[in-house]
Amino acid sequence: MDDFSRCKICPAHSSIPAYVLRDVTIYVCPECGFHYAAHLDGPSPEEVPGEGVLTDRARNYMESRLLESREQNLSRLNLIKQYSPLTAAKCLDIGAGVGIFLDLLGRQGVVGRGIEPSAPRRAFAGEKYGISLNREPVEHSFWQEEFADSFDLATLWDVIEHVDFPRETLAAAWRLLRPGGMLFLDTPTREALDYRIGEFSYRLSGGRCPLFLETIYARVPYGHKQIFTAGQLVELLQSLGFEILRVNSRHEPPAPSFFQRLRPGKGIVVVARKPEN
Ligand SMILES: [Zn+2]
Repeated sequence: MDDFSRCKICPAHSSIPAYVLRDVTIYVCPECGFHYAAHLDGPSPEEVPGEGVLTDRARNYMESRLLESREQNLSRLNLIKQYSPLTAAKCLDIGAGVGIFLDLLGRQGVVGRGIEPSAPRRAFAGEKYGISLNREPVEHSFWQEEFADSFDLATLWDVIEHVDFPRETLAAAWRLLRPGGMLFLDTPTREALDYRIGEFSYRLSGGRCPLFLETIYARVPYGHKQIFTAGQLVELLQSLGFEILRVNSRHEPPAPSFFQRLRPGKGIVVVARKPEN
């Protein structure tokens, strides 16, 4: 049984259940104000035999989403270009998905490696881009023993909200960066309108009507486990030794309808550096 009263990002041990949703309860730390779901993925489901096969249905779905994510990935690439010449840079893409971003990096001369827990996504990346992704999480000895201080760049695109332990994931990424290496990250923000409306409606209805909170924290494999504010993310990164180069909100293409505009909403973008000794 996991102890969710222990905050995931600060030393406090007094978090309380604040939002009881259909699938999962959201804990809030009274010390740092962090919100996180009382749910962990734990070991990868593909350890169950027969799980994690790339079906035609999954392949078609991933293919159909590529075009949609292309624009966002190009803007991520442009962000990195402002900080790194890219050619011959070594990059670790943590949560590489179907490999689309590593493919873009490869075309710029980047030597990329990627981590992806989902076996069907790894299979798709191999088929589509000829990219071989690793399943070992960044904390795993595979990375920590062989690749310490070795990457120029690390990217976590829409990943930190999905991991079980964000502090440990970022600390592990820190160890793999060389001194002067840079971390690029984006994630949804708790300051977005959808989240605030969800909280407001939950309180107003005595918990009966959490609106967007239900979808933000849907309990699916690799679903959202925590949603940061920009301040919490910056503080966490600084406490791990990172120097913050940039924090701003994510640029997203205009959504076609009012409701789509409300969710998933704007996010946080952070560029941080591991200081040169
Ligand atoms: Zn806390």
